[in-house]
Amino acid sequence: MRYEAFHQRSIDDPEGFWAEQARAIDWHTPPQKILDYRDPPFRRWFSGGTTNLCHNAVDRHLDARGEQLALVAISSETGVTREISYRELFDEVNVFASMLKSLDVGRGDRVVIYMPNMAEAVFAMLACARIGAVHSVVFGGFASHNLALRIDDARPKLLICADAGMRGGKVIAYKPLVDAACTEAQHPPPHVLMVSRGLDPDASRVEGRDVDYDALRAAHAGARVEVEWLESNEPSYLLYTSGTTGKPKGVQRDVGGYAVALALSMWSIYDVRAGQVMFSTSDVGWAVGHSYNVYGPLIVGATSILYEGLPTNPDPGVWWSICEKYGVRTMFSSPTGIRVLKKQDAAWLKKHDLSQLQWLFLAGEPLDEPTAHWITDGIGKTIIDNYWQTETGWPVLSLMPGLDMKPVKFGSPGLPAPGYRLRVIDDVSGADVGAGEKGVLVIEPPLPPGCLTTVWGDDARFMQSYFSHFKELLYSSLDWAIRDEDGYTFILGRTDDVINVAGHRLGTREIEESCSTHPSVAEAAVIGVHDALKGQVPVVFATLREGDAAAAAEGMRARVVEQLGAVARPARVYVVGALPKTRSGKLLRRSLQALAEQRDPGDLSTLDDPGALDEVRRALERGADSGG
Ligand code: AMP
Repeated sequence: MRYEAFHQRSIDDPEGFWAEQARAIDWHTPPQKILDYRDPPFRRWFSGGTTNLCHNAVDRHLDARGEQLALVAISSETGVTREISYRELFDEVNVFASMLKSLDVGRGDRVVIYMPNMAEAVFAMLACARIGAVHSVVFGGFASHNLALRIDDARPKLLICADAGMRGGKVIAYKPLVDAACTEAQHPPPHVLMVSRGLDPDASRVEGRDVDYDALRAAHAGARVEVEWLESNEPSYLLYTSGTTGKPKGVQRDVGGYAVALALSMWSIYDVRAGQVMFSTSDVGWAVGHSYNVYGPLIVGATSILYEGLPTNPDPGVWWSICEKYGVRTMFSSPTGIRVLKKQDAAWLKKHDLSQLQWLFLAGEPLDEPTAHWITDGIGKTIIDNYWQTETGWPVLSLMPGLDMKPVKFGSPGLPAPGYRLRVIDDVSGADVGAGEKGVLVIEPPLPPGCLTTVWGDDARFMQSYFSHFKELLYSSLDWAIRDEDGYTFILGRTDDVINVAGHRLGTREIEESCSTHPSVAEAAVIGVHDALKGQVPVVFATLREGDAAAAAEGMRARVVEQLGAVARPARVYVVGALPKTRSGKLLRRSLQALAEQRDPGDLSTLDDPGALDEVRRALERGADSGG
């Protein structure tokens, strides 16, 4: 079918369109109403229908493909590969679900999962889904403060962790971070279930709180747990993401809408069907990991590959050797992942038989043209840029090779995915801008299935963060965009203070708050500065109360790593005498960023103290007080 007709139908007759798509998943009770939109912008897809993500991802495939591989978990860090069939996955998930129940976890209870890319993380997620518990996976690269913030917001009954992760051969102990987070949190979980890989034999065990996975698993061997049928709009999981404030938002996903959207995206966008193999290099802690390492491929009966390790270890051909060995049809990675490979010899791209590989999708950050050309030429495959957000759970913009492949335009993630009514509007007047003009990318509600239903426990924040920017009720993507004559959309970066480091979304506010906990610091301003490898890196400008500039700068970097994790480590810290602010006291982050990127700082008519900019210029000339 032609893309245009398919997309148009999803806009003109959303209920008819989504009723058809809903047939791709199993329902225990069919939906009573396809779309309930009585309370805009809140919407309920497949209202009254009951279903279960675990049933759709596992149980329903047992008859047709019980012996087929469901999950291949490869770690180039530990050297262990686990090939798990649908039947084995079913067994593991049942045992895990039984363990959860024994720890008093039930329907609606939250479970925080803090693990690297290992098979047990997937078992844990599916086990939660099976019993209707709401999982909240926290990226393993986040440190204790970030974990504590998420614990306090989600108030979990249980935290599941690994003893340690590994990166580049170095063991990163998780348990001390979990202990610190539980101490910092106001609402620590009553139990911590630890999966030990023997990486940290000295990991602490807190009496009465900590439970050992192997021992509990043995006690539940062979257990079977009935699926809990959930109303389509009950929460399935939370995934915290950064915004403009220091407090992360718990993006809440539903059950039925999510499953249907994933099923549709798997065949139409990613071109993967039952029995085929998908390899996403994402971490389970990110939105891509949830949708395309776990739920998407499993819901359609495909094989999912989960990879723990660097793209260059044991050699820069490791990803392609996985593609060859498992006959990967569709691979999904990030521009940063490819830029890491680009530093290596291009001959690595030619060493493996990639005849099965059809598509390489890249998402999470802007795909620069040189990288796109390098990898297109290097592997001789079509590279598809796709744009989405943690909030949307699946692509907003993409090309759809499973339906009707359109020509690639370098620099653009393509055309609207089904169900998305996208507009590009003027940020002040709210009027639609013409082709080729810059505006804010917005989605006209109701948001399609799969997108967030609200911010956990905070409908007001959901409204305020996404729907309060314009006179009309519109979802703001908070991204600038341009649409060309052919409808291809180009993304030009965020309108808010969120930065994107190697595809990881970080709030500058969070980093500023962390820097400000240093006793010498009076005020910190964090901006994202262009970086050839990571897209952007955080750079700090700070004023001091007292003390030595170099020591304070070092101290700030250490605090950020300790509290937020190495992903947020400032690349450079500059100590200055004053920060540029408007007369009303607002930090002029954009001017700071322009100066740091050697661009014109723009309109400075609102600047309070012109001397502050000279301070910044001098600091940049002098060089960073730490990093750089
Ligand atoms: P996250 O929620 O962490 O996935 O971050 C979402 C943000 O990443 C978006 O709002 C964009 O700013 C950026 N982003 C994601 N995918 C793309 C893409 N294909 N091109 C440009 N920017 C992207």
